[in-house]
Amino acid sequence: MTSVFLKSHILLTHPRQEVQIQALQQTKKEVPVKRKSSSCTAPPLQFIAPLDCLEVRVGETARLTCAFKGSSPVVSCWIRKKEEVVESSRFHIEKSDESSSLVIHKVLPEDSGRYTVFARDRKSSTQHTVTLRVIDRPQPPASCPVPCVVSSLSLVLSWSGPSYDGGSAVTGYVVEVCESPAESGHWRELTAECTSTSFRVSSGLKPQGEYRFRVRAYNAVGVSEPSQESQPIRMEIPGESSDETPVEYVNVTINTENKITDHFIVQERLGVGKFGQVFRMTHKETGRVCAGKFYKGRRAKEREAARKEIELMNFLHHPKLVQCLAAYDNKSEMVMVMEYVAGGELFERIVDDSFEHTEITCVGYMQQILEGIQYMHQQNIVHLDLKPENIVCVDRTGIQIKIIDFGLAGKLDPNIPLKVMQGTPEFVAPEVINFEPVTLVTDMWSIGVICYILLSGESPFQGESDTETLSLVTAAQWEFDEESFEDITDLAKDFISSLLSKDVRRRMSCNDALAHPWMAYLCVDNANSATKTLSKDKMKKFLTRQKWKKTGKALLALKRMAILAKPEGSAILSPVDETEQALQSLELKLQCKPEFSQTPCDLTVSQGSSAKLSCLITGYPDPDVVWLKDGELLELKEGCVTVDYEEQGSCTLTLDDVSLHHSGLYSCRATNAHGEAMCTVTLTVVEKDRPVDS
Ligand code: ADP
Repeated sequence: MTSVFLKSHILLTHPRQEVQIQALQQTKKEVPVKRKSSSCTAPPLQFIAPLDCLEVRVGETARLTCAFKGSSPVVSCWIRKKEEVVESSRFHIEKSDESSSLVIHKVLPEDSGRYTVFARDRKSSTQHTVTLRVIDRPQPPASCPVPCVVSSLSLVLSWSGPSYDGGSAVTGYVVEVCESPAESGHWRELTAECTSTSFRVSSGLKPQGEYRFRVRAYNAVGVSEPSQESQPIRMEIPGESSDETPVEYVNVTINTENKITDHFIVQERLGVGKFGQVFRMTHKETGRVCAGKFYKGRRAKEREAARKEIELMNFLHHPKLVQCLAAYDNKSEMVMVMEYVAGGELFERIVDDSFEHTEITCVGYMQQILEGIQYMHQQNIVHLDLKPENIVCVDRTGIQIKIIDFGLAGKLDPNIPLKVMQGTPEFVAPEVINFEPVTLVTDMWSIGVICYILLSGESPFQGESDTETLSLVTAAQWEFDEESFEDITDLAKDFISSLLSKDVRRRMSCNDALAHPWMAYLCVDNANSATKTLSKDKMKKFLTRQKWKKTGKALLALKRMAILAKPEGSAILSPVDETEQALQSLELKLQCKPEFSQTPCDLTVSQGSSAKLSCLITGYPDPDVVWLKDGELLELKEGCVTVDYEEQGSCTLTLDDVSLHHSGLYSCRATNAHGEAMCTVTLTVVEKDRPVDS
């Protein structure tokens, strides 16, 4: 109990009486009674078993209710994405001193997220976050299924998962087929239990049949609409190989009579390499689009090297090797005309979101690389510069690839050991760095490195500097990073290990590699573990690193990244600001002028007893209180005239040992920044022997 002495004055509105007040104020200093603020009496505001997460199906009503315990009044508000939730046609807030509910009608997927309720009473505040998950059936798979024909009776489909899973994990896919024209318009279900984004169709297909495919994704809520349809795909005639795209092979003799511009319109630059620049060109007569490699060096040695590459191309007539179509050599320039490979670098394609990346698709790429290299090796030609950027895609949609850039390639003479000091550190074999004779399996090492990166996105020998990389290669020091190879099959790892062998005698040849059981994944029905979608994140980083290396601007780019990583200026609120703002807004809501929710009753007491006049005052900030008697400030005296003003707002004036002159009109006046309120009561003190009227 706090007892406070007070001096008070009368609250009057009459102008004449106001003068009186001023005069009074000069003589008596008003000392209002402050509300008692004892932290031990009322426990701080707290939530009662609050909800952490709510899952609601799209279209239904979400009710986020948080009950709390505190001393009234309690104000609350809901914050989402740093902003206060305001009532609208779908959003309703039901508030009381005991709870706050945010009711969202007809929930939409975008309503998912974190909602924080802030609650505040006079003395304390608290907050709690509820996560709302609006679940829906998934969106259709982001890409159409891409078929890869394996034989006359089977093919492998791969596709991308939906861009939005509906808020609930995709648990599988339905694969559908439509045979055209036989079934035109009628879609048949091939499976409803495909748990990855790749499926091998090995029954129900006829040789030479033409099919279209589509897929649907499903989750706990339901099945999505179908994806886009694949292009019609025609099955092979039995015995026909899958990649038999007709290729014309030209035996090129170098044209020394004409200039390239006599026959071609030279268009945009496609790329820059070690030996020159590559431009897109169109043949003036036929309109055929080609790629022209313009060699940069004009010295005899450089011209000789260019001539050697062009001549070697005549041995490389294979669908997996880029074809040379013509060559020009005159005083001003030397150009090799090649078939135009339109799809860009393989790794760039893989990181494209619409492109499926599984172990099976990797087998497909590796098989094509091996087929091309096998053809070279059969003629004793080594490539010596196999690396990801020299593996390019034939077009923007399919999975056919070709090997380009034979600038370092050479024919091995069994009688003359060839020692070279060329290649790219990350991909070059230990024997090259050790300046030992190169052999056909020197290429196989590089294929092992490509395969390692293809499956994991990690480069096995990448060091901090070229010197470190080279020393890791010569030591053949590499391992399967546990996390990066988590989803990779043992067969794939065995394939890589058999290629990344420092001992050239133990390294797989191209024929061995093509016969490795991992290659058979493309042709076996049960390679389920290899259909898991592989992460592209590390490969994206690998490609970024390669680009930096090329431009030599790594440091600059790093700095730029660091700037970008910073929050976008001061407009973004930190979590502290957000809480602070919410509390401030609640503080504002609590504000109200004083009011008497309970007033004292007129009282009659007998002389010598004590009189208690009680009222209940609301208002925020806590109103200050003064008591007046007959319009005059009441002077407090300990043990005689006391005021108790409790935390919950009850205010009691106690007059002890009253005598007749205590009778009169007693007023309680409560004041805060928003205004004031007053209540008045009559106290009658009667003589001791006289009975007190009740
Ligand atoms: P270099 O032998 O000088 O290193 P490349 O043969 O590697 O040059 O070619 C350089 C770049 O030009 C390649 O990375 C690629 O982007 C592009 N390029 C090369 N050949 C072709 C082609 N036939 N079709 C399309 N682009 C090509």
